[in-house]
Amino acid sequence: MKKFQTPLFFNSSLIQEIKKNRDSEDRNKKDFSPSKLNFGTIEFILPRFFGFCYGVENALEIIYKAIEENPNKNIYLLSEIIHNPFVNSELNSRGVKFIFNSEGKQIIEWDKLSNQDIIVIPAFGVTVEVEKKITDLGLTRYIYNTTCPFVVKVWNKAEILGKQGYTILIHGKYRHEETQATFSHSKQYAPTLIVRDIEEVKVLSDFILLDELQNPLKQKEFFEFFKEKYSSDFKPDKHLEKIAVVNQTTMIANETKEISEYIKSIMIKKYGIENLYKHFADTRDTLCYATHHNQRAIYEALESEADFSVVVGGYNSSNTTHIVKLCKKKIPTYFILSENNIISKNKIRHYDIDKKIEIETDNYIPEKDKVKIILASGSSCPDSIIENVLKKLLSFFPKANIPDNYKHLLT
Ligand code: SF4
Repeated sequence: MKKFQTPLFFNSSLIQEIKKNRDSEDRNKKDFSPSKLNFGTIEFILPRFFGFCYGVENALEIIYKAIEENPNKNIYLLSEIIHNPFVNSELNSRGVKFIFNSEGKQIIEWDKLSNQDIIVIPAFGVTVEVEKKITDLGLTRYIYNTTCPFVVKVWNKAEILGKQGYTILIHGKYRHEETQATFSHSKQYAPTLIVRDIEEVKVLSDFILLDELQNPLKQKEFFEFFKEKYSSDFKPDKHLEKIAVVNQTTMIANETKEISEYIKSIMIKKYGIENLYKHFADTRDTLCYATHHNQRAIYEALESEADFSVVVGGYNSSNTTHIVKLCKKKIPTYFILSENNIISKNKIRHYDIDKKIEIETDNYIPEKDKVKIILASGSSCPDSIIENVLKKLLSFFPKANIPDNYKHLLT
């Protein structure tokens, strides 16, 4: 895989060493078992895959190049380059400004920009509408596009399937920048609908199985339930006959598969197995490799009988939130931004993904002769932050026995 130039301050010699050792033993990346750092009284269990993915490294390489090449120009990012506050504030400290916030609210008006300014498209991509706006305003002279190629792959797939007459069903979070961009690209070529989860798909399936979708009352029900989540040309009586599922690349891969399988079973029920492929497209190849690797690595790490897990990343990061969800199902899990959330050996401040607030938990480290901790992150967390978290937790274990080959990396 291509090697990128990302700023050194996001790297960690410790994590780099661990990843390098694993990669040299497992060049084809087939072994998903975690890396274990056993220090006697404390053991860290690191998933086989975590940290910056291809798309994030690509985006960072491009934006730092933009900064280097244009020292005297204004640089505007359309929105957060990725969902990590440290990365975004680092860019901000270099003068990079954000046109939209991550909720889609415009914070810099278009009339503040000139055609001499640099515009950077974030890794999630951008909607066709914003692309058009930039073009209409003549702001395309200095564009740096960091859209991840795996996101573009989904757009291309939606286009191909749309041209073949399929309706595109996007498994994603409606307000997420990537889902908005995919929705906007897809609806150029296909009737498009966004679903959040299997529960929404079950409601959709009831509509698919209905024989009376011409009924205006049923259509009204459909439009109310999927409010704002369908393309403007959507006709429930016509556009639920031939469906292809794609996803926001950072959703839980198994959930996308479940959704796809569910729709497939509904199409078999309605049209018969012999007609399945006239009504359903197989789209498994749109899943992003990094999401798949990180999630599979977490499932394996969770087999290690750890006492708890610490997941590090931006609270608005979709892929990190999904790692948290998978961990939470099995063990106590603390979602933190950085080592600063670890207040002491007895107290941690962490994000509750259901209540969407930070809370504090006491006595999160159990009293035991040996404590086992899964330390994980998604695709948008710098390894340097993971290292800081690891060092802070380790500092609470003065009797930890650090092997000689790690001493120089941990002091
Ligand atoms: S998670 Fe996948 S789609 Fe998203 S930026 Fe990384 S490589 Fe690209």
